This record gives sequence, structure tokens and C-alpha cells, in this order.
Amino acid sequence: MDAFVVDYEPAVRILAFAGVLAIMVIWEFLAPRRPRTLARLRRWPANLSIVVLNTFIVRLTFPAAALGVALAVEAQGWGLLHGIGMPAWVAILAGIVLLDLVIYLQHLLFHAVPVLWRLHRMHHADLDLDVTTGARFHPVEIVLSLLIKFATIAALGIPPAAVVLFEVLLNATSMFNHSNVRIAPVLEPVLRSLLVTPDMHRVHHSVERDETNSNFGFNLSLWDRLFGTYRAQPRAGHQAMTIGIPDFRDTAECSSLLSMLAIPFRRAPAPRRESR
Ligand SMILES: [Zn+2]
Ligand SMILES: [Zn+2]
Repeated sequence: MDAFVVDYEPAVRILAFAGVLAIMVIWEFLAPRRPRTLARLRRWPANLSIVVLNTFIVRLTFPAAALGVALAVEAQGWGLLHGIGMPAWVAILAGIVLLDLVIYLQHLLFHAVPVLWRLHRMHHADLDLDVTTGARFHPVEIVLSLLIKFATIAALGIPPAAVVLFEVLLNATSMFNHSNVRIAPVLEPVLRSLLVTPDMHRVHHSVERDETNSNFGFNLSLWDRLFGTYRAQPRAGHQAMTIGIPDFRDTAECSSLLSMLAIPFRRAPAPRRESR
């Protein structure tokens, strides 16, 4: 199994991306959670162009990618997990959970450090939330997170199969938990006890600052509960809540590729007032 995912990495990755995208698009059509504020055609061209652009940039800048780093680290026997003798499947599982914790901490960091927030706010400036938001990240944020991932793989000795499985999983869950889909009310809490659901991540995309600074997890819902950043529901409710960030409300600015890429470089908005 682990050799299979490493050998067929590109195919596994593309099939998972296309498969999950198709499933979520159909689900959004059949059972939408909230009415859209903008038509798909206003947002999708730019959101999908970002995916293509990011793929090109990452392939050009880091042809060996995270898998290459993991294979090199494994060959050298570097990192924490390689130092502890454990069955391969335990190391893969531990690697996936550790990467998920690092992604959670990295997300906190991108909200806490002003220069990193400038990059990350492009993701939050989407005026609606759906499956395409899950892949809408600024190229510089993508490159920075890749460097953080390389360092994590080297320091912790994450096995190559765990790296590929985690990347495929993160891609799939990110599309899932950004989707505008309705999940049966009896099922949602059960799912949420383990995984980040669309209702849980939607709170993070609220225009209210305290709600934006909650629910940072992408895969396991555990980290937010453990570190006290968990918020069950938005105050205004899922139907009435506003998606986005207060400083970026213009449709053209938030939904066209070039102005989206410029969002980090926009002049800093007026200083925040705590009383607001
Ligand atoms: Zn965020
Ligand atoms: Zn998000």
C-alpha cells in the first residue's frame, strides 16, 4: 500500500483531486447549505485559475516536492520517527497526525503574524464559500507552507507514504470542508467529533473577527478542542452570517485573478480598534 501511493503519486493525486471536486460540486447542486451571494461564474474562473497557477509554480520551484524531501530524509535515516523503531503503518499514521498538527499551528501563525496574514487574507477575501475556496491560496502562502512542510518532514522524519497520503487527504478535506453542502443534522455532530466539517470551518470564514480567529483545523477537529480555539456555530447562524473579511468587500477586487494576487500588497487598512 505505502509503496503503491509513492510509485503512483501523480496519478493518485490528480484522481483524488478531480474525484473529490466532482463529488462536492454535485453535492453543492443537490443540497446547498446557504444561498449564494454571487453566481459561480463570478468567482470560479479566478479561484480555479489560482489552482493551475499554484500547481505550475510549485512544480517549477520544487520539482522534487515534499515526496522528494521525504525520500531523501528516509535514505539518510534522519528525523524523530526514523530514530524510534516502530512498525511502518504506525509511523505512517503518526506522520499524518503530526503533519496535521503542524498545519493547524501554521494556520494559527498565518493569522497571528501581520505580514503572513496579508498573504492568507486572500483566502479569506472570498465573498462566498464553496468547494473552490478550498484551493484558493496565494502562491506565496503555498510556497511558504511547502518550506515549513519540508522542515517538518526533515525534523520529524515523516515517512514518504505519509507525506503523499497527507497531501492527498489535505487536498480532499480542504475541498470538503469549504463546500457549501448540507449534511444531515444527526450525522454532522458525529462527523465533527473526528473531522472538520463544512459547518465547523464556515465559522472561520465569518466576517466577525473573533469567529475568524477560531476553528483553524483542516483535518482533525481535535486540535481546536485541545488548544481552546473551537467554536461550535456562528452567532448569526449559518444562513444569516456574512462570509469574508471587513476590509475586502468589493466583488471585482475579491473575485478577479490579478487583484486577488495583489491583495497582500494592498496598503494596510486603518488600524484595528479593539472596541470594534
Ligand atoms: Zn484562516
Ligand atoms: Zn478556509
